[in-house]
Formats: sequence, structure tokens, C-alpha cells
Amino acid sequence: MKPISKFEAVIHCKCPRCRQGDIFSGKMYALSFKGQTTNEYCPHCNLRFEREPGYFYVSMFVSYAMSCAEMISASVGAYILGLALVYDNLWYYVGILLGIVLVLTPVNYRYSRVILLHWLTPGLGYVPGSGDSDPQGIADPHGLAEKV
Ligand SMILES: [Zn+2]
Repeated sequence: MKPISKFEAVIHCKCPRCRQGDIFSGKMYALSFKGQTTNEYCPHCNLRFEREPGYFYVSMFVSYAMSCAEMISASVGAYILGLALVYDNLWYYVGILLGIVLVLTPVNYRYSRVILLHWLTPGLGYVPGSGDSDPQGIADPHGLAEKV
């Protein structure tokens, strides 16, 4: 199988090690609470996504930065489109910002974890061929992984 680039792996929420297994199961905008489930292990190379207990708490900071960037962009966009920056328009701005944040919450949730896994975790990089019948024993060099 042809390897995909890191950018494609991030866009499609793929595992940072094999770039083939999905990090999430379900759809991004599902109407059930199970729509945004992070897989515990990569279905392709068996990498454990939650590196340590509480690992994904760090993604809150990434999500916060993403939300700030989205709100600033929405505010500037509303101003450029003609919404004057006066006190009478305050609630329009508040409505726009809350709407943007609510609509993009699933995106922020997913991509904050993906960014954390792909770019902010030291020692976790792409290993070509990991999980592909594992001819070199890359995914489990000591043979300790449990077979489910
Ligand atoms: Zn993987």
C-alpha cells in the first residue's frame, strides 16, 4: 500500500505511526454521543493512542488555541463584511462567536487530539510498514502485545 503524507494523515485522522488506522470511530457530526469515540488502539498497528493516563487533557490547550483562532477570524470576517464595531452590535458579535464555537466543537475535539498525537508528542513518529504483517517486528519488537 502506498504511504500517505503526514498532511493527509492529519486531515483524515489517521494513526501517527502507521498512517493507516483510524484514530476515531464514528462520524464527526453524529447525532449520538458515540459519534466522537477515540479508539483505544490503532486498528492497524495496535498503537495505544492514550499514551498515559490523562494524556488527552493536553488537547484541551490545543482546542482552546483553535477556538481563539476561530473566534478572532469570525470577528474579523464579520467586521470586513460590514458589521460595524459599535456597542449596538455587541450581541450580534456574541451570537456569531458562540455560533462558530458551537458548530466547530466536533472539529476542535478531533483535530486537537490529532495535532497532539502527530506534532506535540515526542518520540511518536511514522514507522513505514508498521502493522503490515509486521515482517521486521517493528510494531511489537519483543512480541509482548496481546492478541485479541
Ligand atoms: Zn497505527
